[in-house]
Amino acid sequence: MPEFAHLLQGYKRFRSDGYIKQKGRYDELANEGQAPPVMVISCCDSRVDPATIFDTVPGQVFALRNVANLVPPYETGGGRHGASAAIEFGVTGLNVRHIVVLGHGKCGGISAALTGGDLGEPGPSFIDDWMSIIDEARDAVVASCCEDPQRALEMESVKVSIANLRTFPFIAERERAGQIKLHGAWFAIAEGRLHVLDEATGRFEPQE
Ligand SMILES: [Zn+2]
Repeated sequence: MPEFAHLLQGYKRFRSDGYIKQKGRYDELANEGQAPPVMVISCCDSRVDPATIFDTVPGQVFALRNVANLVPPYETGGGRHGASAAIEFGVTGLNVRHIVVLGHGKCGGISAALTGGDLGEPGPSFIDDWMSIIDEARDAVVASCCEDPQRALEMESVKVSIANLRTFPFIAERERAGQIKLHGAWFAIAEGRLHVLDEATGRFEPQE
């Protein structure tokens, strides 16, 4: 199984090249701490790496990745809210000025939401529980859409996540005060093209 060895080879290249080139930046980040201006919420999908798509450097983006780039609604009950903890830290700890919810094409999580997502494992499914965040959006898409329900739900779920971000009091407050801006985007894997949500029209506009 050579896969981990490949990672270590990559690490060696990083040490002898990328790290050397950015040593000053790493020193500064270590000494002064991070102050990323942007938080990106994207999928775990191996094809959708925000640092690659936005060509960023260390220290620039505070990243949260989870199945289907979802934001749960603000909930204070029990449970270990990993996504909400990252959002809380990004907003109240790091004071990010932008949050980008980045959806993508061919999303396995979205596909699971549309098909029932049965992976054949016995017992409760963490994926099903998690994807229930977009149950309503899925039902609406299934009822009303269209030749490509997968893409429609990928884009709709970005809007749901943005709406859910606004249920967090500390985000709603900062948005009202003009201290934070929320953005939606969708990445087409096959073309390597980003589409950015225009909230006024609800459309995702392809970028050059
Ligand atoms: Zn995905």
